[in-house]
Amino acid sequence: MASKNIFAPDYQNIPYWWEAAPLEKLAPTSLARSADVAIIGSGYTGLHAALQTARAGRSTLVFEKELAGYGCSSRNGGQVGTSFKPILAGLEKKFGRTAAINMIQEGHRALAYLKEFIHAESLDCDWHECGRFVGAHSKKAFDKDIRNRENSPSEVAEEFHVVSRSEVHTEIDSDLFRGGVILPAHGSIHPGKYHRELLKRVRQSGAVVVDQCPVQRLERTSKGFRLHTEHGTVDAKDVILATNGYTQEQFDWHQKRVLPIGSFQIATEVLPENVISKLIPNARVVNDTRLVGNYLRLSPDHKRLLIGGRVTFSESSSTQGSQLLHRQMSTIFPQLSETLTSYSWVGFIAYTIDSTPHIGVHDNLYYSMGFCGSGITLSSYFGMRIGQKLLGTSEGATALDHLKFKAWPSFVRSSWFFTPAARMIRIAEKIL
Ligand SMILES: Cc1cc2nc3c(=O)[nH]c(=O)nc-3n(C[C@H](O)[C@H](O)[C@H](O)COP(=O)(O)OP(=O)(O)OC[C@H]3O[C@@H](n4cnc5c(N)ncnc54)[C@H](O)[C@@H]3O)c2cc1C
Repeated sequence: MASKNIFAPDYQNIPYWWEAAPLEKLAPTSLARSADVAIIGSGYTGLHAALQTARAGRSTLVFEKELAGYGCSSRNGGQVGTSFKPILAGLEKKFGRTAAINMIQEGHRALAYLKEFIHAESLDCDWHECGRFVGAHSKKAFDKDIRNRENSPSEVAEEFHVVSRSEVHTEIDSDLFRGGVILPAHGSIHPGKYHRELLKRVRQSGAVVVDQCPVQRLERTSKGFRLHTEHGTVDAKDVILATNGYTQEQFDWHQKRVLPIGSFQIATEVLPENVISKLIPNARVVNDTRLVGNYLRLSPDHKRLLIGGRVTFSESSSTQGSQLLHRQMSTIFPQLSETLTSYSWVGFIAYTIDSTPHIGVHDNLYYSMGFCGSGITLSSYFGMRIGQKLLGTSEGATALDHLKFKAWPSFVRSSWFFTPAARMIRIAEKIL
């Protein structure tokens, strides 16, 4: 059976965010022969690190393989939260109670850091502290979520408000949910504008960002590193790897530790005012408690619905992924089953075997990566921290410093295993 047309006449296979914040080619610069610090990757991680090192007076060069912001940092859902994936019980089982509490607190600090950063730097990025609605897909999930939150120790407790089943329509115009919770401290951002503003601050700080200049090889030298690119070599005393789900084979120690998983999103056509105003009446960011859940929100101008999700290896293009997302959107909102799609896109998130990010130094190479699809706050915060670590300041210490960064077994990385691997990750999270 032929699949129905879900694409609007103006459909584009690019992130919706690139409309207001297109990726821009930076003015060409002649490549310096040396720098104090070289950073590989120009997403939130690399740029927050660069801001630290450049503002501390270290000459800083950021290398980007494509255009600046090409990776997840201009493709995400713009849903901002405390971000640690496993809940306390899961972290506790793996790392012990004290470490688990410290890790979750680090997530809270990350959110506070991001809010303060946006405010202090006056970033024009459509930030709204709109709160998050977490919809429960079953009564059992609803009860469990509330129980977990009520039993949270005070050190990690997060403010929440219960939404009963009869109140669900005050949050979302869907019959799918059996209740939910509101997390008022969470918010929404325009990821592309946030990246653009961050890039501006980094360049103003004196750091040089070189786009379309992949680092092809790192050579150890007596004074640090020599970075090989097609435009020449650069010597740097210190290097930070900030490539997350886009980590390539020349960084094989790291590549073995972050599994790239395609994450898809679509944005609808502009919806009639009487439809969009009811969909998510309080314009919160929304996600749900299902094993393979969706996340949704309105566009910053409140004209379109954006929906993402479905961590998968089997769809190889965003056009394929959008068919699936459209069906999921129609399940949540049957009133949108004839709605057309104007944008669809995919990005590669980085999954670690313990579902937590990792930050540290391996073989003299600094890194921060593995945000498991929930990294706006965490990549910003740990990017900042890895910059501080490199500077040798005590603020660079984090609750993740002593975690062992384990490699994925090689069979997980092989393509035949991809779909089961994706499932395994989600199941592991559920068990946690
Ligand atoms: C579809 C999608 C939706 C998401 N939604 C959310 C959300 O709602 N909330 C949330 O918190 N998180 C979300 N995330 C995750 C979040 O976007 C990421 O965790 C975060 O942006 C990671 O930033 P980063 O700087 O570490 O990596 P990236 O932004 O991916 O940057 C890595 C960069 O490294 C570059 N690079 C790779 N190799 C080289 C090389 N050899 N030389 C030079 N450059 C190189 C790449 O080109 C890339 O630009 C989402 C991700 C995706 C894909």
